[in-house]
Amino acid sequence: MTPIDEIKNRLDIVEVIQDYVKLKKAGKDYKALCPFHKEKNPSFFVSPSKQIWHCFSCNIGGDMFTFVQKIEGVEFADALRILAKKAGVVLKREDPQLKSQRNILYQICEEATEFFQEQLQKNKAVQDYLKNRGLENKTIEEFKIGYAMDSWDALYKHLTELGYKESDIEKAGFLAKKETSNKYYDRFRNRIMFPIFDLSGQAAGFSGRIFGKEDEKKAKYVNSPDTLIYNKSRIIYGLDKAKMEIRQKNQCVIVEGQFDLIMAHQAGSKNAIATSGSALTIDQLHILKRYAENLVFSFDADTGGESATKRAVAPAQQLEFNVRVAILPVEDKDPAEIIKKDKKKWENILENSKPIMEFYFENAFSKYQNLTVDNKREIAKELLYPIKNITNVVEQAHWLQALASRLKIDERKLVEALQKIKARESGEEIPSTPETRQVSRIKSLEEHLLGLVLKYSQHLDFAKEELNPNILIIPEVKNVFVKLKSFKESFDLKSFQKELSPEEVYLTNYLIFKVEYCELEEKEVLDEIRCAIKEIKIYNLRDKMSQVSLDIKEAEENKDKEKIEDLKRRFYKLTEELNEINI
Ligand SMILES: [Zn+2]
Repeated sequence: MTPIDEIKNRLDIVEVIQDYVKLKKAGKDYKALCPFHKEKNPSFFVSPSKQIWHCFSCNIGGDMFTFVQKIEGVEFADALRILAKKAGVVLKREDPQLKSQRNILYQICEEATEFFQEQLQKNKAVQDYLKNRGLENKTIEEFKIGYAMDSWDALYKHLTELGYKESDIEKAGFLAKKETSNKYYDRFRNRIMFPIFDLSGQAAGFSGRIFGKEDEKKAKYVNSPDTLIYNKSRIIYGLDKAKMEIRQKNQCVIVEGQFDLIMAHQAGSKNAIATSGSALTIDQLHILKRYAENLVFSFDADTGGESATKRAVAPAQQLEFNVRVAILPVEDKDPAEIIKKDKKKWENILENSKPIMEFYFENAFSKYQNLTVDNKREIAKELLYPIKNITNVVEQAHWLQALASRLKIDERKLVEALQKIKARESGEEIPSTPETRQVSRIKSLEEHLLGLVLKYSQHLDFAKEELNPNILIIPEVKNVFVKLKSFKESFDLKSFQKELSPEEVYLTNYLIFKVEYCELEEKEVLDEIRCAIKEIKIYNLRDKMSQVSLDIKEAEENKDKEKIEDLKRRFYKLTEELNEINI
């Protein structure tokens, strides 16, 4: 038995999904508000008998693995690991699915994490330092903070003794090389170590903060280089722990440093993530978009504008996030410090966050005492850019109006100016991601038809008569239809499914499940089948016609008169067929 089958045997899909979503019993199935889109009425269904789930609004679904992949935002291998853990299935190292370079690197990172944690246990000075910064023991444990001792080869020795190859330790990012001697040494020395976890909670990289007196010759932070498992532009510090809370609140709080993040979580802001000093990348924003629509950036009051650019507020606006800012007081601008002194104060700062545009307005107008012509021009220049970034037209109009009235100028002039900026910058917009699972019309039609005839098999003969499976476009659907056509016994689902591959059994169960939720009246079914077949035929004919007209064009270019005539006859014939169907 493969680990996948074993996991499926041991776990029930209901119990897996219940960890993330509140399910309600609905007949023999369960329903819930879909975790993947906003809705008021449940269209997310789980079938314990078929062990599948489906959202009828997003039109996505699958088994427990696809659910975990989607809700955790991870790859299949990681979903496998998560569910194996839950099921108590041991994934053997020899497992071909997992025996990969990636896995070795994960193992090395895990060993390193433990090693650093042990070193911290042995070092009172570092423990005291962390305590002084306000970190509680359970927080240190939760974030697996450790210490890399002041040694050139302590970790290297430890890992090689465990049997790891030098080349793998290097690939995991723990070694650096002296240019002169070609010899490897430990990258992290005398540093407080923060493992950086990926979405499934596995350490994939590290950030090391210098311990003791700050030394100008040494970087305050040293980070892992990009590796096979650690991609700086995609991984987000803290997201593994914050993601459920972010989804629940539909809001993500963004702080800068690791200490800020850890203190925020300790203080109960469990929906916080850290940018680790740099701007959020487009990739990271897309990842966050899977969890929430609202971002709250924490800014220093005095360097607000600068912070906005630094934290990628503009791309966030263009990706249609609703952006707010929490302004940190001038006297202590470090969230970690604020929380250490007064947890309530931090909560207040978050509660009083304001829309980013309000912040920009206050910032711009506070710079100029009098609204002279020059000042008006400067203010407009400063504010038109963020206004341009607003993708929602109503919201954009609102802020244009607000700006016009505060500057006491004609709004149309501002609209003109805005259009000029847009024209100048066109081509620089960030493309939004295409909906990855968008199902084309024909695919859903063919699948719907297959589900219908399997569920309401009394109409199977009608469908077999009316439809030539060869005109179907989707290979999986077509294959099942071909098998249906050659299935000579009297139909019953169980015995028919014996003729199918496991994937096809899964597909058919899934399509029947979808059809069941259409809750068709008995008398509507035949009409529904008839319509689906008709549309599939129309699609097929149109497809052929557009192909023929392309051929005609080509023949005309080649001046092949005979072929042109021939093709035209074909085209007319197809037109006639189409007319017949449409009657
Ligand atoms: Zn949905």
